[in-house]
Amino acid sequence: MKSLIPLLVSLLLSGFSLAQTVPLRRPLPIIDVHVHAMRVNPGFAIEMCPWFLRDMPGGDPNQQMRAFLNTECVDPLQPAKSDKEMQTAVLETMRRLNMTIIAYGDPQILRQWKKEAPDRVIAGIGVSSPNDMSVKAFSDSLSSGFYQVMGEVAPQYSGLSPSDPSLDAYFAVAEKLNIPVGIHMGTGGNGMANISQAKYRASLGRPFLLEDVLARHPKLKIWVMHAGYPMIDEMIALMGANAYVYVDLAGFIWSYPQAEIHAYLKRLVQAGFGKRILYGTDFMIWPKLFETSLSVIENADYLSFDQKRDILFNNAVRFFRLDASKFK
Ligand SMILES: [Zn+2]
Repeated sequence: MKSLIPLLVSLLLSGFSLAQTVPLRRPLPIIDVHVHAMRVNPGFAIEMCPWFLRDMPGGDPNQQMRAFLNTECVDPLQPAKSDKEMQTAVLETMRRLNMTIIAYGDPQILRQWKKEAPDRVIAGIGVSSPNDMSVKAFSDSLSSGFYQVMGEVAPQYSGLSPSDPSLDAYFAVAEKLNIPVGIHMGTGGNGMANISQAKYRASLGRPFLLEDVLARHPKLKIWVMHAGYPMIDEMIALMGANAYVYVDLAGFIWSYPQAEIHAYLKRLVQAGFGKRILYGTDFMIWPKLFETSLSVIENADYLSFDQKRDILFNNAVRFFRLDASKFK
């Protein structure tokens, strides 16, 4: 043991001098296209084990419902306990990982984040039902220049199809102003329709429901959030028929079993759509969720370095018409 000490000392010293002479390399840029800027609600500030949607319980409507999230793992993700703690963690993570986010949610939180990191936050505004705001208010919000994206649009939770005529005027505004649109399509968890969201319908997450919106608005740029999980066949058919549709990996990347996530992602790439997959988390209240989600892409052995770079960065630059030179 004793003989190792001089070696350790010299290693430490050489490492130290190396750190002094070689500047630290900035990590390659990442764009997370699906971040929720939320107020911290102490009642919902609970721990979470990623990939928790496995072993769905055998349920019965007469039994008490089981907790939606589980905490039975060695290292559950900790929630931020206050808006300030959340903001500090999000800003620190963005800088450390060289990450830019497309974020939507609470307007005040969003403005605060954007004020602190103007180059790293792209703001979005969502309309999920005509009750949310008038077409005029929506149009005015976009014209202010603060919002550059329409999202998250989630009509599925109110029992509406994305092609419902009541939403059409909003999409017309986005098309006219050249604003990309992110639409929630797919699952939301176990028991959405009968435990947490009474109007939610699985069938309203079918990717084919986007065909009418796309036909009515040929210049609209739509990305399908959650990649329409688990409807892979419809997703691939829709992307095949509509050359400008992209998908993001948000939500299911950290909630479903890892074998299932990789099978879905692999199938999208195998079908030839590696240039139309966007990296996204569905970030909510757990700061370490960024690293957790990135680890899934990092560990996807079936993807080449270039395919990972496309998903993490290049595809978003193309889809959102960003200037890649500003991210170096
Ligand atoms: Zn969603």
